Amino acid sequence: MLQGNQPDLFTGLPNRAPVVVAWGAGTDSTAMILEMLSRGDPIDLVMFADTGDEHPRTYAFIEFFLPWLKDRDVQAEVVRYQPSTFKNWPPYKSLSENCLTNGTLPSIAFGFSSCSQKWKAAPQHTFLKSWEPAQRTWAAGGKVQKLIGYDCSPRDNIRYRQVAALDDPLYSFRYPLREWGWARDACDKRILAEGFPLHPGKSSCMMCTAVKPEELHDAPVWALRRIVLMEARAAPRLTSCEGLWRKAIKGTRTGQPRPGSMTAYIRQQELLKSADIDRIIEMAPKALVRFQDAQASLPVQNRTPLADWLQLFDALDERIFDNPDKPDRYLSTLHQAISEHKADPAEARQIAA
Ligand code: SF4
Repeated sequence: MLQGNQPDLFTGLPNRAPVVVAWGAGTDSTAMILEMLSRGDPIDLVMFADTGDEHPRTYAFIEFFLPWLKDRDVQAEVVRYQPSTFKNWPPYKSLSENCLTNGTLPSIAFGFSSCSQKWKAAPQHTFLKSWEPAQRTWAAGGKVQKLIGYDCSPRDNIRYRQVAALDDPLYSFRYPLREWGWARDACDKRILAEGFPLHPGKSSCMMCTAVKPEELHDAPVWALRRIVLMEARAAPRLTSCEGLWRKAIKGTRTGQPRPGSMTAYIRQQELLKSADIDRIIEMAPKALVRFQDAQASLPVQNRTPLADWLQLFDALDERIFDNPDKPDRYLSTLHQAISEHKADPAEARQIAA
């Protein structure tokens, strides 16, 4: 087993750049950390940026791995984007709640990367701005070194080529897996060799365009229902893409066949009952808009968080579909339902599982 091997670097001026890991909580970056520590290569900070939409398996691994790191004297932090202005919207806390509020999809579904910038990169940078070793390094004109877990697979070769020439004024970048010539199988083996009770697997938001069709078979029912809701809520604004997978792939030379919409795949594969999908599409986006409209004029501190509404949605509570003429009656119905759901979201999700 690894020992705590972090040197005490920050007594006086740093004699080297602080080394931080942008940990994705997946196989590659986990294997990179393990091997770095085994080799005695310093890591001063591991950060995980939580969008709020990771697979439950990933959250379980995070709960295991962060204390494991701390036991080895590696500072480990979960950072989050903190929304602070909600305009006339209900307060939201996660990327998916942000999308549901706006009636859109994560930007990656449109071929952009602002979801990752906003929910992954920005909160890490915000944390580092108040991290003393980084402050001191930057004040002295130096750069913080970031370790990136790109491996030697064809896909990561492309990602690497896209960023290799970047010259950032605050960060230098190192790609240890590529230095070692490691691809995914080597990373898998490295984690297995550590003898952990859990394996991180692949990590990403559960509704990310990068999710492969077979991964949806492993998603909990509540997550599949939320995917259907997200696509249905965004549907009126979708002109350039068909859904979370953007465009259908026929599966000739461009990879595995799949529709552009995850909902279509979930229906095809009978991962949810067709009647449940139809009901979500028909009722839930309207109910969600009504929920938002009903509290738009309230002071933000009096608004009901979107997470509460989603808890009822996960729990199949029919009261979110209530269709009163008066919006304030809808809100009071919801508040009654929310107060009855004393269970935490995890319990509510089990009801839908
Ligand atoms: S995992 Fe996908 S959806 Fe989530 S922030 Fe990254 S690119 Fe966006």
